[in-house]
Amino acid sequence: MTIATNLGFPRMGPNRELKRAIEGFWAGSVDEAAMLETAATIRKDNWLLQSRLGIDHIPSNDFSLYDQVLDTTAMVGAVPPRYGHEGGMVGLDTYFAMARGTTADGERAGVPPMEMKKWFDTNYHYLVPEFERNQTFTLNSTKAIDEFLEAKALGIHTRPVLLGPTTYLMLGKMADEPDGDPLALLENLLPAYEDVLKRLTEAGADWVQIDEPVLGIDLDDKQRATLGRGIARLSAAGSKLRLMVAVYFSDLRENMKVALALPVSGLHLDLVRGGDELDSVIAKLPESMSLSLGLVDGRNVWRTDLAAAIKVVTHAVKAVGSDRVMVGPSCSLLHSPVDLGNEPDLDTEMKSWLAFAKQKIEEIATITAAVDTAHASPERALAANAKAMAGRRSSARIHRSGVAEALAAITPEMLHRASPFPERRKAQAKVIKLPAFPTTTIGSFPQTAEIRKMRAARARGSVSEKKYQEFLKNEIASVIKFQEKLGLDVLVHGEPERNDMVEYFAERLEGYVSTANGWVQSYGTRMVKPPIIFGDIHRPKPITVTWTTYAQSLTKRPVKGMLTGPVTMLQWSFVRDDQPRGETCRQLALAIRGEVADLEKAGTRIIQIDEPAIREGLPLRGEDRADYLAWAVECFRLASSSVADTTQIHTHMCYAAYDEIIDAISDLDADVLSMESSRSGMDKLRAFDEHPYPNDIGPGVYDIHSPRVASMEEMRERLDMALTVLTREQLWVNPDCGLKTRRWDEVEESLKHMVAAAKSLR
Ligand code: GLN
Ligand code: ZN
Repeated sequence: MTIATNLGFPRMGPNRELKRAIEGFWAGSVDEAAMLETAATIRKDNWLLQSRLGIDHIPSNDFSLYDQVLDTTAMVGAVPPRYGHEGGMVGLDTYFAMARGTTADGERAGVPPMEMKKWFDTNYHYLVPEFERNQTFTLNSTKAIDEFLEAKALGIHTRPVLLGPTTYLMLGKMADEPDGDPLALLENLLPAYEDVLKRLTEAGADWVQIDEPVLGIDLDDKQRATLGRGIARLSAAGSKLRLMVAVYFSDLRENMKVALALPVSGLHLDLVRGGDELDSVIAKLPESMSLSLGLVDGRNVWRTDLAAAIKVVTHAVKAVGSDRVMVGPSCSLLHSPVDLGNEPDLDTEMKSWLAFAKQKIEEIATITAAVDTAHASPERALAANAKAMAGRRSSARIHRSGVAEALAAITPEMLHRASPFPERRKAQAKVIKLPAFPTTTIGSFPQTAEIRKMRAARARGSVSEKKYQEFLKNEIASVIKFQEKLGLDVLVHGEPERNDMVEYFAERLEGYVSTANGWVQSYGTRMVKPPIIFGDIHRPKPITVTWTTYAQSLTKRPVKGMLTGPVTMLQWSFVRDDQPRGETCRQLALAIRGEVADLEKAGTRIIQIDEPAIREGLPLRGEDRADYLAWAVECFRLASSSVADTTQIHTHMCYAAYDEIIDAISDLDADVLSMESSRSGMDKLRAFDEHPYPNDIGPGVYDIHSPRVASMEEMRERLDMALTVLTREQLWVNPDCGLKTRRWDEVEESLKHMVAAAKSLR
């Protein structure tokens, strides 16, 4: 019998119940018992839902109060010493201290949190494990066992999920030796895992899912051997258990051999990303191994083509027998919104194209039922799916006349400014009068409670459009006055009209749809709601011109127009799966190019096109990166190159120039680049020693993520440091990023210091 499986389910609950409970717990308004009760209810509802919809292998321990990597750190007792954990079970205090740091008062005052990093190529962030040389590990959390028993008590037999030991170590870092290799700790780590497996066996588990997504990235021989050794030891330890090793986000490529040699009972493949490998895996699949087919896309929101999926499953069943085939999502559904049923504003046709986590579970069950005679045949579901698929393929909403033609008409000249940068710099200096070391900010000013309240009132319709527009005008006027008073050189309008830098544009472009509840976990209780690109992108009318020109009308100093770049729009949206990402990005670039032209026509001299997401779009495999960077750079240039030499293009990135993409960043050929750098102590600027940045650049002089106000001297010191690798003509003075999360008093003091630092340099 073919088995319907799932790898993981969203944890926040259909209405983000967990977010509210945990944040209330942190704020002191929800007590611990009530918070844990909410968590238990979500787990129960998730298990019951999956069981009711027909999933045979339901995951447990996929739930987390913060992050599954942090859970693993607690499980193996790898609490960094600064949290003062003295062994034994890791309590909630310690757990949340690792996640968020501690506040200034109390016993363990002011301890910083663990570092956060992106989980592979997703927008989910995990807490980076910190190890010491010769560290040992012991079981310090029985969460995996507890949750298995919790489900069992509800009558649901689950498949516990553990993050595999090799992936866990590779995600971490050696605390005191930046070049140390955490994999050296494998032997020390394994006893803690063996302990968990032993206890899971005693609790009655049979299948255990071991996630080893590093099998989808570039590994060297030693890393591959370590992975094989780790899994072999776990197999031996849990001899009564059947282990399912799960790989996702990628195909296997040169790791296929080691994956197929693992002494385990099952291997899960991401067939959305690695479908081409299925036949070679089938050909070499050991008799003892089952194959879990990850056919339902866990990373995107589209309905699965069930007929096509069924064909794949039937093919696999013929080759290896129905007893050795499982059907599942490509990866954990953690990366999907929860339930399309929660979207009252989407029309029926749009809904027929979409599937969120709950709908994906239904799809998995339907595919499994269709290939298995033991189940009733799901005729109706299949017919509805076929109709929706055909409808989406031919819908006039998706293909807009003129867009394909516009893409085909892109010429090489459209990807270049008229003159090289040195000439542009001279031309710009003539019309934009700026002092040496010009000061500016990144775009947003504090998004106060009042601004958020007005925006919500407008969405509810409880404030008139006229009143709302007036409110924004007042905001902009006061932000302009504020900047003039402080003596900034290039001003901004402050972005009070924007909820989010991507959603704001998405709501004003055709081809996009926004959801009401399509939330996905970004880190901890922080959720994001990516808009959905379903069709050809078209900009029906100018988006930012009114506010930018209004701001400019209030001052003689130049006001910078503020746009979100095409790669960031793409990266922070759910994207269509019926054409390559690069193609969708080009459409976005053309729309932004139109906006740039309209701003320029309206008299805007300086236009910033933010691209904070370029780096995170990098493919997981080294060999795929050049291709990505080529189209990403091309899209930025397409968006930005139509302007005259005298118009100044800025771009912004929220991270320090990074060795791997430094050439690509230079290739963007923006006149001015502002970037994060103060948090990394300016040392990332060293990258410019070997690859001098050719145009102007503003390495952020203070960290906007912290309420701490840096002194003028500190900022001056950072500028001096920057001048050891940059020339005086190149250097701009600005913060690390936008100021929207800061308070007005913090912003005022910081910017005063910043302007003073620039003046002292002059
Ligand atoms: N212009 C945006 C702002 O200032 C940039 C945000 C970002 O870089 N993420 O908020
Ligand atoms: Zn930024």
